[in-house]
Amino acid sequence: MSTDEDTTTAGGRPAAETVIPGVLQDLLAAKGPSGYETAPAEVFRRAAASFGAQTHTDAVGTPSALVPPRGSEGGGRPAGAAAQAEGHAPRGSGPGGSPSGSGPSGGQPSAEGHGPPAEGNRRLIVMGHIDEIGLIVTHIDDDGFLWFREVGGWDPQILVGQRVTVSTAGGREIPGAIGKKPIHLLRDEERKKVAEIRDLHIDIGARDREQASEMVRVGDVAVLDAAPVPLPNGRLLSRALDNRLGSFVALEAARLVAQEGGAPDWELIAVAAAQEEITFGGSRTSAFSLAPDAAIVVDVTHATDAPGIEIKDLGKHPLGSGPVVSRGATLHPALFELLCEGARAQEIPFTIEASGRHTGTDADAVHISRGGVPTALVSIPIRYMHSPVEPVCIDDVHAAAALIAAMALRLSAETVLRR
Ligand SMILES: [Zn+2]
Repeated sequence: MSTDEDTTTAGGRPAAETVIPGVLQDLLAAKGPSGYETAPAEVFRRAAASFGAQTHTDAVGTPSALVPPRGSEGGGRPAGAAAQAEGHAPRGSGPGGSPSGSGPSGGQPSAEGHGPPAEGNRRLIVMGHIDEIGLIVTHIDDDGFLWFREVGGWDPQILVGQRVTVSTAGGREIPGAIGKKPIHLLRDEERKKVAEIRDLHIDIGARDREQASEMVRVGDVAVLDAAPVPLPNGRLLSRALDNRLGSFVALEAARLVAQEGGAPDWELIAVAAAQEEITFGGSRTSAFSLAPDAAIVVDVTHATDAPGIEIKDLGKHPLGSGPVVSRGATLHPALFELLCEGARAQEIPFTIEASGRHTGTDADAVHISRGGVPTALVSIPIRYMHSPVEPVCIDDVHAAAALIAAMALRLSAETVLRR
């Protein structure tokens, strides 16, 4: 925040102490606008395999990683849990998830890669989203400039003057810049107008259309070129913290639970949903195919210690105050209480956020999947959301993973999730 302070002593914590976990660094380095998530999904799978989770990727591009329950034998369903489960459609279309083509998901052979949980066990999914907002090339003009539309929600003011990287065939990355007419040349009335996406173009240094077309195709996507930078006070600045952070937290929670030998009587599946920023496509489909008994969605929320934020609307959750646990209309009260109990037991700081209707996250899709899924929402505060400079406090990220793991480890065969 303060540019004049000596960053080696600010807040009593040297800048050098901001340690970016290696997996998070790799997730952030990978580029993956909605629908083009192959690179970060690969990072997610590799990280999950490193702690022994079984990985799978579905047809939409959502990777998932399963941690089996601790002592998966002999944990029969209690009456309450059985009541909760009654009326569910069968989870899979056959043992081991082999598609029969007769169920509602017939014809999608990869949608049930994990199969149903063993008899007597239940299933918790912890879901971040792996996509990020980006740009898509719609036209290459005679002068070799690229015209584009947004993938996800951009404030066009953020885009002016940015460097971009266009991902092209064969994994090649082309640098470019988003250009705009210089201020000297703007007429008076133009100076007062805000930029619109359709007035902006990408300059990749091509001489003409022919040369540009050798480098880029219509339908290629770009992200802003902004490498992660450590800041003082355990803070990190990067693009795509929305929501590589959620994917990372899902992975970390799974790793912590795996380290304890699994959750009692509950499978945990970490999910990195594709396409959240455009359609909730990944969360809709994976909530359907995985048919969880409960879900925790992990996303980012607005840190309230930035200028212009109204805390009467949002509550108070500044950077460094821990994860934000949501309560509200679409979220399950019993899961909220379980998260609070886990946090208190482990002395993990957290704050509470309220939502009166939809949350703007994958929770909106997951909680109404099939006959309804008890769903919680855990968020990490960041500033300047949907920009290439989203600061986060790393301690909040670790605390979110610890909180979810603590809650998962408190689940048991006796856990009843009722409204
Ligand atoms: Zn977003």
